[in-house]
Parts: sequence; C-alpha cells; structure tokens
Amino acid sequence: MHTQWESLANEHILGIAPYEPGKPIEELERELGIHDAIKLASNENPLPPSDRVQRAVIAALHQLNRYPDGSGFYLRQALAKKHGVMAEQVILGNGSNDLIELLVRTFLRPGDEAVVPHPSFVVYPMIVQAAGGVRVMVMLKDYRLDLEAMARAITPLTKIVFIANPNNPTATIVTASEVEHFMARVPAHTIVVFDEAYIEFALGPDFPDTLNYVKQGRKVIVLRTFSKATSLAGLRVGYGLADPDATALMNRIRQPFNVNSIGQVAALAALEDEAHVLECVRMIDAGRHFLLDEFNALGLKFAPSRANFILVDVGRSANDIYQKLLHEGVIVRPMTPFGMETALRITVGTPEENRKLAKALRKVLGR
Ligand SMILES: *Cc1c(COP(=O)(O)O)cnc(C)c1O
Repeated sequence: MHTQWESLANEHILGIAPYEPGKPIEELERELGIHDAIKLASNENPLPPSDRVQRAVIAALHQLNRYPDGSGFYLRQALAKKHGVMAEQVILGNGSNDLIELLVRTFLRPGDEAVVPHPSFVVYPMIVQAAGGVRVMVMLKDYRLDLEAMARAITPLTKIVFIANPNNPTATIVTASEVEHFMARVPAHTIVVFDEAYIEFALGPDFPDTLNYVKQGRKVIVLRTFSKATSLAGLRVGYGLADPDATALMNRIRQPFNVNSIGQVAALAALEDEAHVLECVRMIDAGRHFLLDEFNALGLKFAPSRANFILVDVGRSANDIYQKLLHEGVIVRPMTPFGMETALRITVGTPEENRKLAKALRKVLGR
C-alpha cells in the first residue's frame, strides 16, 4: 500500500507555507549574466566583522575537533556583565531564531494563543503553528505595531505576545511610553517577547528599556542577536535575557551544543570591540539618510526607519521593480508575500552600494 509522506507529517506542519530561500548571489549572477551584484535583501551588516574578531576566529580554528562549551560559560558571563543581570538570566541560541523556537516549545501548549503582529517576522507565526498554538494576528497601523489592538487581543488563553522592535519588515519602532501603557495591561499569565534584533540602530530617548521589565520580574523575554549590528550573521549567535526560572525551563530542551565554538569565540571578541558596532551604526545612519533623500527625490513614500533597512513604496508592481533591479545587479526584497504589492524592503548597504541602488532605481523607474 502506498503512503504519502504528508499523511505521516505532524498535522500542524501541513498548514505552514514552504519557505523559499533566495539563491546564492553567485548563482544569480551566472543565471542573469551579470557580475558585481550587491545583496540588499536580508538586513545583513554590509561590513565584515572587525579584525579583532577575525583574529579570534582564526586562533580558535585548531580546536574545531572539540565540541563547543555547552554552557556558553564565558559568553554568558560577558553578556550578563554588559546588561547588569546574572549569568543564569542569559540563554544562548543558534541565532535568536533558535530562541524563538525554544521559548515557544517551552511555554506554548497546543491550543494556547500567541498574539502576533502582521506584517512582521514570519518566524513567529510559523513556529506557533508548528507547536499547535493559535496565531492571533493583529494588523499594523500606519506601518507600526498597534499595541492598543494587541493588548485588546489578549485573552485568558494568550500565552505569548511577540513584539519586534524595530519591526521587520517596516523598520518602525514602538516607543517607551507606548510599551509602558501596553505592559500595564498585560496579565500575569502572558509572556511578552521583545525581539530587539535591530536595537543598536534604534536607540534613542524614546526607545523602551525592556530589560527593566525583566529586572522587575515581569514575564518578559528580551531577544538580541549578533547577526545585525555586530556583523556575525553567518555564525548564528543570539541570546535571550529573562528570569532565571524562565531560562532554566528553556534550557531543559535546549540542545547542549546549539551555539558553535567559533560563534562563541567571535561573539565574545565582538563584545570587546564596541568601536566596530559604533562605526557600523554611524555608516548605516548616514546611508539611511542618503537613501531617504533619494526616495524623496523620486517621490516615493516610505515608512519611518529606525533600523538598517527601509520599507519603500515604489507605486507600481514591486515584483516587477525587483526583477528589473536584479538585472541591474541589485538584490532587494519584494513585499508581495506580505500582501504589499507595491513595497520593497531595502537593506542599507555601504555608501558605494547605496549609490549603486539609487542609480539602478532611478533607471528602472524611468527617471
Ligand atoms: C534578523 C532578525 C533576527 C535575527 O535572527 P538571528 O537568528 O539572530 O540571525 C531576529 N528577529 C528579527 C525580527 C529579525 O529581522
């Protein structure tokens, strides 16, 4: 008798749309017959890790025969010191994506609800769904998370609320006072996850200090990553900051070697090299202003960005513009999968990359 693989799968998985990863840049260049293509599609840092980090990585290579430190001892200590918490409050992940999965698998029971903003990071609803949870999607308002509506969406069944701040793909933030009002309305049975992957680009007097909620003993988990401002996306290192009871529960199902040894060494070296992050943030800031001026000159609308990417409305088929930009050697991200037919998400690059994008955009828009 013939049995389909699908009939063997966990039924929760069947409701999830397959993720389509982009092609490697080299493959695209070969297919399109172009060269020197630039990738402004994944919100990566356009600058490589600092020399100091690269030297630390090279020095660690001869130990690759060994398993990593499964407790991430030194890295957790350094992070605890940086954030003024106990090492027990720090949990490491294979990227912060790993931690999203870990916290959902730890806390969300089948049938529990998770409040998820939309459009936002696609990983939240995907993992909630895979765990048999109920996704309660709350639409953004003016490209920003609608914390009022999200608070209203909380029910006795709500276990987790996801807040991406800044949000991806809109790059907008929710402010300290908005978060304060929101937190006052969150009941004790609901865990609030602040995903702050882009915090280094967003800091300012209006940006919330969510770690304070952790320190006050609220049911809050803060997620950070080395993938964006720290230039280590390829090594997959993220971390969570939470109550020691929360991290202890998550540690029960964490794979002991979820963060590789080179990633730990690189992240530790990066923590001692704040100058690199500062330099990147300054460059991205200037690049963001340059691109916004260009978009203004082209009469394009955009969401107010507090991150290293911009959601821009090209006023016509985003897929079409995306394809045309590809032929100019510029890879961006069309927002069609989010139902935004005329929007592109563009990562801020180096000054040279930004100029190339601006020139290509002017050309394909016929200006
Ligand atoms: C890029 C990004 C992350 C980072 O994921 P890692 O697994 O740490 O690389 C997390 N959250 C959001 C919203 C992001 O855009």
